[in-house]
Amino acid sequence: MGIEAGAKVDGGCLCGAIRYTVTGPEMFTSQCCCKDCQKATGTGHTTIIGLRRDQLDMRGTPKTYTNDGESGGSVTRHFCGECGGRLYTTGDMPGDQVLILQAGSLDDPDVVSPESVIYMKDAVAWDFFDPDLPKFEAMQPRER
Ligand SMILES: [Zn+2]
Ligand SMILES: [Zn+2]
Repeated sequence: MGIEAGAKVDGGCLCGAIRYTVTGPEMFTSQCCCKDCQKATGTGHTTIIGLRRDQLDMRGTPKTYTNDGESGGSVTRHFCGECGGRLYTTGDMPGDQVLILQAGSLDDPDVVSPESVIYMKDAVAWDFFDPDLPKFEAMQPRER
């Protein structure tokens, strides 16, 4: 299940100041439990969608925050300066044309479904995950 090839789905932040359109298909959808996702979202994990940068058409200008990610490379998180709603992340990730969209910012987040749980080593004891999903201690190995 996911966004069909060529299909367009919309999303945006809580207040609506920033809107976007994604063209499918997504590369992957995962639950990420890393410490930075916990701090950035205030939750146990965040649900992320991998996209090529040219698949995201953003309207409005997000604020950004950059720090060093788990891998040592810089990671930039893009969010609405008005409502704080998280939108997407770019950085030194495998494949420099990749970005990570926050699945909950889609108008209909049910268009995707997670295929894995990553950074289990940081997961909090009270978070729950689908027992059928493959789980990885850190990044999910991917062939490119
Ligand atoms: Zn907003
Ligand atoms: Zn994370």
